[in-house]
Amino acid sequence: MRKYIDLCNLFEKLESLQSRNEMSLELATFLKECNSEEVQIISYMIQGRVAPMFVKSEFNYSEKSLLKLLSQHTGEDVQSLRKESGDIGNTVYEIWKKQDSTKESLGIKEIYEILWEIVNTSGIGAISRKNALILQCLQKLNPLESKYFVRTICGQLRLGLSMRSLLDVFSLATVGDKSLKVILEQAYGVCADIGYIGKKVFESDRESVVENLSNISAIPGTPILSRLVQRVASFDEISERFKSTVLVQPKFDGLRCQIHKWSKKDTELKKNLLLWFSYLDSKPRQTNNLFSSEKSFDCEVRLYTRNLEDVTEMFPEIVDYARELKQSSFILDSEIVGWNYKKNNFLSYQETMQRRRKYSIESKMVDVPVKAFCFDILYLSGDSLVNKDTIDRVKALEGVLVHTQGSISLAESIEAETTKQIKKYFDKSVSMGLEGVIVKQLSGGYRPGLRNYEWIKVKKSIEKDLVDTIDMVIVGYYKGSGRRSDFGLGAILGAIYNGETDTYDAICKIGTGMKDEILKDMKEKLSQYSLKTPVKNVRVVDNLKPDIWVEPKYVITVDADEITKNISNMDLLIGGGLSLRFPRLIEFDRDKGVEDITTVTEILDMYNMRKKS
Ligand code: ATP
Repeated sequence: MRKYIDLCNLFEKLESLQSRNEMSLELATFLKECNSEEVQIISYMIQGRVAPMFVKSEFNYSEKSLLKLLSQHTGEDVQSLRKESGDIGNTVYEIWKKQDSTKESLGIKEIYEILWEIVNTSGIGAISRKNALILQCLQKLNPLESKYFVRTICGQLRLGLSMRSLLDVFSLATVGDKSLKVILEQAYGVCADIGYIGKKVFESDRESVVENLSNISAIPGTPILSRLVQRVASFDEISERFKSTVLVQPKFDGLRCQIHKWSKKDTELKKNLLLWFSYLDSKPRQTNNLFSSEKSFDCEVRLYTRNLEDVTEMFPEIVDYARELKQSSFILDSEIVGWNYKKNNFLSYQETMQRRRKYSIESKMVDVPVKAFCFDILYLSGDSLVNKDTIDRVKALEGVLVHTQGSISLAESIEAETTKQIKKYFDKSVSMGLEGVIVKQLSGGYRPGLRNYEWIKVKKSIEKDLVDTIDMVIVGYYKGSGRRSDFGLGAILGAIYNGETDTYDAICKIGTGMKDEILKDMKEKLSQYSLKTPVKNVRVVDNLKPDIWVEPKYVITVDADEITKNISNMDLLIGGGLSLRFPRLIEFDRDKGVEDITTVTEILDMYNMRKKS
């Protein structure tokens, strides 16, 4: 059994390394000495979590609470120490160092159990119960362990290892190189639980690992990575891309949502459920868990966004409707959109997004009714449909939803042979208030997480200069001047992802499109993630350096007049040497993870599209 101190020594080492490759190698070496259960646990802990992204398992414990607790119990001037050391982990390390008693380190699993207990403490008096657990645990920890323990519970463990890097690490640890990358990405694509994938890899030997990974299949309850959609420059390009009949569906503008349903009685499925599902079930959780306390239902329904966030509680009407459908298990891919049931028309995107909230759900349900328009099905009655052709999946979906009317509806699909037919359907969709159409190749499987030309979006913006909006992550902000200085934030620095260098490349400063309430909300959220220096994998040219750096966490959608070459950046080629002309914020805090932002390759494609036309 590995000790927590070993893991903390590893964290310390990872922090000191600059290169991603070195970090991956270091972690791979460490994991080789762990058993498969430890690998599963470490896969979550390395991201500062106790469970995969789609399981609600937040610590909900602030640095402020910890500082208060420490000043009461140590008699130290904790606030000043915090200011000096620059971070909560170092603060606790300094205090613990003075208590010079060496303690025997706890096992990784023991710490994991304690972390779960903190997560599971909620309701009245939660803070004082959490405080008691934290103090009890801290008393058993060495200085280095306390440093990483408090960073974890305060949500500040920032090791900078992405999901992609972790998959590389699994490959390195098993076969010594990155040759398992593709098969690992496919496995994670159909079963987006990084710990489960890690466990499967470490249960296998060199000979059986490929087969074991290929056998990983869709399981209701565990999200599948959402398939992404490619963009084109013009209607003519569609006919160049597709030589035969295509499927055309309306493009809904709302919240991407996977609807999972499974039977609690399905013993076969339960056998396959992941280790930690049963672990979670055995815990006295006060929040909903996957086998929730709603004993009156014999099925479970869960809703996940493309960002792997569990949004089940936000849409009770969709959950109820899914329960009523006669099929006992399925995974549907859909877009949730605000819907006026009296007039039978769509509400705006902004109205739909008001439903993305944790409180006052019942009253918002009345103000903003919604419908989930389903355009794909990935699992039905015990069988995965992920590898079936698109046309066959859509037929199966019609079988499930053709007569339904209510909170879950079937998205229309037509078959088209010519660009003229596509254009006609596009015009009809736009006149109904939709954003455009999605054109899909009839053949080919679902391809989780992938973006290629088998699925193409044709948006109203196709006739505009930019072809499509750009998703960026905020890596810093500027304090602003004049009226904006009241908010302490005047503009933000947006970055795209560079796959070649594995960096976030800052390409422009965005200062327009931000109303006062957005500025306030942004400042509040971003200041919780502010940093003294940029994280290792952020690149920026000197003249764009922000006043405050922030951890890359919040994803925004940005529109602009055009993509331009950035002269001051030509040597460094940060962001492909490109920038945006007149960028403006369209949406702050998107339903996307940093792994989903626009890439340098995509922005170069978009730039070239317009150069050609
Ligand atoms: P992207 O998905 O390209 O990263 P984005 O989130 O801004 O960017 P859009 O440009 O709006 O997305 O287009 C793709 C999205 O459209 C899909 O992710 C999905 O949420 C939504 N969508 C709406 N209707 C459909 C449909 N019929 N088929 C597939 N996706 C659809």
